[in-house]
Amino acid sequence: MLPGLRSTSTIEQEQTALRTTLRVSGVVDGDLAREPFRVGTPELTVDWSGVRRITSRGVAAVIDAGRLPGPEVAITWTGVSVALVLQLGMVANFAGRARIASFFAPYWCAACHADRVVALETERIAGPRAPAAACPACGGALHFEELESDFFSWLEPQRPQGP
Ligand SMILES: [Zn+2]
Repeated sequence: MLPGLRSTSTIEQEQTALRTTLRVSGVVDGDLAREPFRVGTPELTVDWSGVRRITSRGVAAVIDAGRLPGPEVAITWTGVSVALVLQLGMVANFAGRARIASFFAPYWCAACHADRVVALETERIAGPRAPAAACPACGGALHFEELESDFFSWLEPQRPQGP
C-alpha cells in the first residue's frame, strides 16, 4: 500500500496511580496499537472521540485490545464516536466488558442544512430514544439522523451469558 494512502490511528496516553487514559483518534484499522491497552492501573478509560472511521479489521482489533487489561481492571469508554456506536449495535461484544459512559449521536439541522454531532451521557438516556437537542448555531430543534431502535440498541439490558 502507498504510504500516503495508509490510514492510521494514534493513541495518546496519560497515567496516574489510579487510572490510565487512552485517547484514540484517526481511522481505526487492523494496525491499532494493542500494547497501550495492557495497563497496570486499576482503571482504564478509553476516549474514542477522535475516531472518524473504523474498518472491519479495526473492529477485530478493538475486541482484541479490550481483552488485554487484566480482569481486575475497570474499563470505561467515553466520547464513543458515531462510527463506533454503530458497531456497538451490530457487533456482539464489541465493547467487551467496558462501561459506556458517554457517546456521540448524529443529528441534522434543517435550518442550517448541516450535520450536528451531539454528546450524550449514557446514564441520562432512559431507553432507545434520541433525546431532544438544539442546534448550537441557530438554536433550532435538531432531527435525529439514524434509526433510533438500531442506534440505541446496545442500551438494552444484556442477556446473561451462558458458560
Ligand atoms: Zn441550525
